[in-house]
Amino acid sequence: MITLELEEVEIDHCTDCGGIWLDAGELELLLGEPEKAKQLLDSFNIDSKSAENVRKCPICDKKMKKIIVGQSTPVLLIDKCPRGDGLWFDKGELHDIFGRAKLDEDSKVQKLLSRMFGHNQEKQN
Ligand SMILES: [Zn+2]
Repeated sequence: MITLELEEVEIDHCTDCGGIWLDAGELELLLGEPEKAKQLLDSFNIDSKSAENVRKCPICDKKMKKIIVGQSTPVLLIDKCPRGDGLWFDKGELHDIFGRAKLDEDSKVQKLLSRMFGHNQEKQN
């Protein structure tokens, strides 16, 4: 994992799988709009019958819970530490969640994310 700094928030990025770890509270910081952040967090639902592989929290090593974000399809499933250490996003999911939070298309965070991860994808091809 490498640490990236995005809008003064440190995020951990796994260069092997493209996943991203956010410590508790960092998603809210990145969203920057408390009202939208709250709406998004309120839309989290635990999915107890997910077929996705269980991940372990990088901080406490406990099995993380699968969380469905919002109601929209296709379903966006992220992983959440049961102790509340933070959230894990598989490749592309962080991008996806900002899209669903209906942030401004050209907000700073969106631009930074596309620059960072758009660039990575180019290198792989
Ligand atoms: Zn944990």
